[in-house]
Amino acid sequence: MSAAETHAFQTEVNQLLKLMIHALYSNKEIFLRELVSNASDALDKLRFQAVSDDSLNEGEDELAISIDFDKSARTVTISDNGIGMTRDEVIANIGTIANSGTKKFLESLTGDQAKDSNLIGQFGVGFYSSFIVADEVALETRKAGTDAAEGTRWVSKGEGEYTLETVEKAAKGTSITLHLKEDMDEFLDNFRLKNIITTYSDHINFPIQMKKTEWDEEAKEEKVTDDWEKVNKATALWTQPKSELSDEDYTNFYQTISHDFNEPLTHIHNKVEGTLEYTSLLYIPKQAPFDLYDRERRYGLKLYVKRVFIMDDAEHLMPTYLRFVRGVIDSADLPLNVSREILQSNKVVDKIRAASVKRVLDQLGKMAKAEEQDDYNTFWDQFGQVMKEGVVEDFANKDKIAALLRFASTQDDKAEQRISLQEYIDRMQEGQEAIYFIVADTHAAAKGSPHLEMFRKKGIEVLLLSDRIDEWLVSHLHEFEGKQLKSITSADLKEFEDEAEAELSEEDKKAREALTEKVKKAIEENVSDVKITHRLTDSPACVVNAEGDMSAHMARMMEQLGQ
Ligand code: ADP
Ligand code: MG
Repeated sequence: MSAAETHAFQTEVNQLLKLMIHALYSNKEIFLRELVSNASDALDKLRFQAVSDDSLNEGEDELAISIDFDKSARTVTISDNGIGMTRDEVIANIGTIANSGTKKFLESLTGDQAKDSNLIGQFGVGFYSSFIVADEVALETRKAGTDAAEGTRWVSKGEGEYTLETVEKAAKGTSITLHLKEDMDEFLDNFRLKNIITTYSDHINFPIQMKKTEWDEEAKEEKVTDDWEKVNKATALWTQPKSELSDEDYTNFYQTISHDFNEPLTHIHNKVEGTLEYTSLLYIPKQAPFDLYDRERRYGLKLYVKRVFIMDDAEHLMPTYLRFVRGVIDSADLPLNVSREILQSNKVVDKIRAASVKRVLDQLGKMAKAEEQDDYNTFWDQFGQVMKEGVVEDFANKDKIAALLRFASTQDDKAEQRISLQEYIDRMQEGQEAIYFIVADTHAAAKGSPHLEMFRKKGIEVLLLSDRIDEWLVSHLHEFEGKQLKSITSADLKEFEDEAEAELSEEDKKAREALTEKVKKAIEENVSDVKITHRLTDSPACVVNAEGDMSAHMARMMEQLGQ
């Protein structure tokens, strides 16, 4: 043993701790889910590394998580015999926040408890949630495969600093003891703890054990014995047949893997057998994570090989535009030592990915066709902008994705994007050849554009686009179901010009030519041409793009980017 050393928490950790304790207070039991989830991760890591180095098991066969409490000392202890941590790892993992997105995360907090607690969950600051219920936390750990004398003891009250000590620890793995705050007695109860475990962690892939209780006739109460019993199902949920799983099971599992407090919008569970053998359980969340547009965001899929956890954030299993999909893929065909590099160019992965994308798109298609549109609308409002990336990213599925797109339109002038391209086509006017749209910086600007005047008069619907990505979208999506998409601000709208032109007398035409010449001379330096238009009914003039020119919106975007 050595003397305890005192270390200061990183500033962000302190800030986070304070926020979290307040924001998560109403969800305080999640500390157990978070610690069990960490223990399970540590067991996953050990099992994975022991595949190539059996000595890491240190002769222990069974990997398990144990939960125990001591009424008189007012402590709850969560232990695992997993991978453990070295002293340096303790310093790096606990007491600092490695993720550089922390600042951004702290900025994204709103002060609204319900919203913030959800954000905090997604951010995965799991370990610190101990301080919601504890006024002191002691963590003892030893890395698998190291000497028993090389254990580390970390202790903190969650206020600014922690102490570190080298200690003797016979068993590998980690043990965390929470000294409960005054008003947290509810957790010193067998039934309560068991209940939290079966609610949040029933399908953790490892046994979670607690001490058995027995009825004590003399004392007339339940007494805790010294025998351990398994209290969770401990089966990988995705390996169970669908018929044996309830919506609640699916939801709980979703919450465990996603750290999201919401229910998912929907799940897709498939077992595939044949040339390829794998199981996929995919979820579409109800709410976009705060880092949906962050380069360092975490991806949603966990990869398992024959139930052995391989890696989190396996980005090759889903294309970027479907990065919001959460879940698990468990393959029987990949090697256990598969690396990120191998995943990048692997036929098995490519096939699983293509099939999974198809399943997600099909499920969205089903939701979009459902009688009740609420789910699809929720989905679209959260993830619509990201889906638009798919039109460009996923060429093979372009048409399918295009059918899922929703837009605002002059049909109702509402900002909500609810109109599909098919719906637009279905109510096109006799003889109308194209799908008309306008792109502007805001919905209000699109809706109020003078370019719309003639279309409104003729009763032709125009899609009103104002998302940042829309300009890019329409520069890649030229047609849908054989109908061209056309901007009403481009000069190429001959169909309307010709029709109106034909109605003019010779005299009118001459007078107009004279006028255009005059105007052109006057503003020659600023425009490439001046033309009489029949598109306007109320406004005297408007600016349009020459064919092949960058649109005004795109030009503004480029300007903003300093191009
Ligand atoms: P996350 O689990 O999202 O990484 P946590 O705050 O829950 O965030 O945990 C921080 C880190 O501390 C983990 O990534 C892991 O490296 C380490 N850790 C926490 N608990 C354990 C444990 N029981 N065994 C080994 N390492 C752990
Ligand atoms: Mg965690």
